Amino acid sequence: MTRPRFITFEGIDGSGKSTQARRLAQWLGDQGHDVILTREPGGSQGAEEIRQLLLTGDTDRWSAETEILLFTAARRDHLEKTILPALAAGKTVVSDRFADSTRVYQGATRGDLRAKVDALHALMIGREPDLTFVIDMDPATALERGLARRSGEDRFEDFGLPFQETLRHGFLALARAEAQRCVLIDGNRTPDQIASDVAAHL
Ligand code: ADP
Ligand code: MG
Repeated sequence: MTRPRFITFEGIDGSGKSTQARRLAQWLGDQGHDVILTREPGGSQGAEEIRQLLLTGDTDRWSAETEILLFTAARRDHLEKTILPALAAGKTVVSDRFADSTRVYQGATRGDLRAKVDALHALMIGREPDLTFVIDMDPATALERGLARRSGEDRFEDFGLPFQETLRHGFLALARAEAQRCVLIDGNRTPDQIASDVAAHL
């Protein structure tokens, strides 16, 4: 296989995605690769602006369907403005979350809309990552980590342990369904151990 150049990290909140995405981008850069680190939600100016629309106002401001259209619009902008230009320039792209997060979150909260998410994605996004690291770990520990990190611009929302469990199973099912591009990573280890495991897959 040719070297993967569009690499994403997925998993529940607090599982170490941002930590490992940063470390992998650093490591690839040290190896002499031209690499950009990006993330969702956000990742381009337009996507950030759309994100603000989703974050402000009443919780019932948008219907579930409109919300999915906004997520998709934001992702399309991220893809067009950040990801595809970098890939075309020969760079490696490491993204902290991408489409799989929407699939799993919408599947967990609005199961009946999962088919629409998939159809919209096929129509308007199309591009899947070459390689996706799904970090799997104990949801209670991940929740503790997330709560400890609550401040700062990397928002953490406490949806509670049962929901974390549901999301975890959503990510596990997705990793199985998309086994050709997904690698399951045991997140119940030190950051160094996880980073070496990730690097070993490249
Ligand atoms: P995510 O982006 O998946 O929500 P983060 O990378 O932000 O997770 O990690 C959540 C918190 O846990 C951060 O404070 C981070 O420093 C810490 N952390 C990350 N990986 C580990 C690990 N392997 N062991 C212990 N703490 C970790
Ligand atoms: Mg994060």
